Amino acid sequence: MSKIGVHSFVWSAGSTKDELERTLERSHELGFKLVEFSYLDPKQVDVNWLASRIRQLGLDVAVSMGLPTEGDISSEDGSVVANGEAILDRAVALVRDLGGTKLAGILSSSHGKQERALSRKGWDKSVSTLSKVANRAKAAGVTLNLEIVNRFESNMLNTAAQGLAYIKDTGASNVFLHLDTFHMNIEEADVGLAIRNAADKIGYVHIGESHRGYLGTGNIDFAAIFDALIAIGWDDYVTFESFSTTIVDKDLSLKTAIWRNLWEDNAALAKHARAYIVLGLETAKRKAELVKAAHLPMAC
Ligand code: MN
Repeated sequence: MSKIGVHSFVWSAGSTKDELERTLERSHELGFKLVEFSYLDPKQVDVNWLASRIRQLGLDVAVSMGLPTEGDISSEDGSVVANGEAILDRAVALVRDLGGTKLAGILSSSHGKQERALSRKGWDKSVSTLSKVANRAKAAGVTLNLEIVNRFESNMLNTAAQGLAYIKDTGASNVFLHLDTFHMNIEEADVGLAIRNAADKIGYVHIGESHRGYLGTGNIDFAAIFDALIAIGWDDYVTFESFSTTIVDKDLSLKTAIWRNLWEDNAALAKHARAYIVLGLETAKRKAELVKAAHLPMAC
């Protein structure tokens, strides 16, 4: 059975104890095995309490984030890069302290639409800075999973192939790709082929629809995606990510351009998403078996 996760913003963008508790309980009740939190500030959140609740419920946890403009490690301003490096270090520490192993999201550049192309210098600065963070993350047992996002959200890693080149440049063994079907649907020549091509460097997967609402109600070819995940033997987490104006995070909702109310009942949405992913993966597995079965006549 596949490991299926859910982004906490399906439930709440808040980080009070009550909101976090409800997020964990609802995820657990509906059968999700992992909860992904956007970066939580340890000054505002009781991390030890949260880690113990995650453990008690038998859940796993991932943390995602996008670097802010003032912490862009591809910047040519040294103080901005240093700030970004410190932000990444803090995020690695949060993952470790929550009992997780995966930091995900836009870690190599700032999150948001850029007004100019990335320079080679910016690429190199990002690679060398992230390599240092990866080194320290290794000691914490944390992997860095670089989310490949569409052109309107970063000017750096828009395709899995670019991500593979970046990982190679870092020379690090704990840096992987974080693939997201919503972004891949915009940028990749073929989503299934891109997954197959990147197979051994995929560390984390987001499943999201083209409009970020209910799975199967947009234009993403999920059958091809589930086929590819089965073909590469993916047995790690796939996490459902969805946004609606029902749940607003003032930062992320603006950067990801969430203007429409695609759902209100988040329990119905999450239930549907989990069932859709389970059935999709199971169907892909049966298809893979069927194409290999000769079904010869029985001897009698
Ligand atoms: Mn995503």
